[in-house]
Amino acid sequence: MLRGLGLALLPGPAVLARAATAPDAWPQALQVPGGVARLQLGPAPERPVVHAGDVPVLVLGDSIAWMALVGIPLSAPVGQAHVTVQAAAGAPGRRIAYRVAPKQYREQRLTVAPRTVDLAPEDLARHERERAHQQQIMATFSTPLPDELQMRQPVPGPRSSSFGLRRVFNGQARNPHSGMDIAAATGTPIVAPLPGRVIDVGDYFFNGGTVWLDHGGGLLTMYCHLSRVDCQVGDRLRTGDAFCKVGATGRVTGPHLHWGVMLNRTMVDPALFLPA
Ligand SMILES: [Zn+2]
Repeated sequence: MLRGLGLALLPGPAVLARAATAPDAWPQALQVPGGVARLQLGPAPERPVVHAGDVPVLVLGDSIAWMALVGIPLSAPVGQAHVTVQAAAGAPGRRIAYRVAPKQYREQRLTVAPRTVDLAPEDLARHERERAHQQQIMATFSTPLPDELQMRQPVPGPRSSSFGLRRVFNGQARNPHSGMDIAAATGTPIVAPLPGRVIDVGDYFFNGGTVWLDHGGGLLTMYCHLSRVDCQVGDRLRTGDAFCKVGATGRVTGPHLHWGVMLNRTMVDPALFLPA
C-alpha cells in the first residue's frame, strides 16, 4: 500500500499525498456528498483512532503514513466538515477539517406500484422494524481491517442508473438513490467484490431479497432485489465467490442488482471502489 517511502525522505505532506494515491490500493477520493475523503494523518507509532461524529472511521496505512477514509453522506452540507483524531483510544482528540464540494445529482422520475409509495399502516410498521434491524447491521465495525479496497464489479452488466439520483416516485420526492444499479437478468450470479463475511440475510419491504457483507473496518456492501440467496450469516467469502442471484424483489421496476457500499455507516458511490 504505502511501500517505497524511504525514511530518509522525511516525508512532507506532498510526498505523503503522492504515495497514498497509489491507484491499486485506494478508492478514488471525491470530496462531495456521497463521496470519500482520504485524509492524511501523518506518521505515528500506533494506528490513530478516528471518528466522524461518534462513528468510527477506517484508518489504513502504517507508522510512516496513516490515512483516514471517510464516507461523506449524500445529505452532507457543502462546506467544511471534520473528523476527530486521537493518537490512541482514550487520548485527547484533535480535529482535522476537510471541504465538501458541491455536486449536482440528476433527477430520476419512476412509476412503481402505488402501495410501495403510499404505505399501508401494516407496511409502514414492517418497514420501521426492518429499518431498526438494518441500522444495527450498519453499525458493524470489525477487524481485521481490509487489506485491499479496490473492488470487483459484483455482476457484469450496464450501470442502469447511477448513484445519487434524486428520485421522484409516482410524483413524490423520496430519498436519493444511495447505490449503484446494475442491469442483469434474473438468476445472474452475484460475486463478492472483496473478501468478506455475510452479516445479514433478509427479505425486506423496499429492498426485497437482501444480503450484507462485512469487509472489516466499517466497510460494508449490500445487495438488494435478489431472486435467490445462496449463503448464510457467518459464511466467509473470497473475492469472486458467488453468493446470491439477481432478481426483481422489493420496490423495483425490473430485474437488476442494487449494490450499496458503506463506510462509517454512510452509503458512498460504489464506482469509487471500481477500477476506472
Ligand atoms: Zn437501486
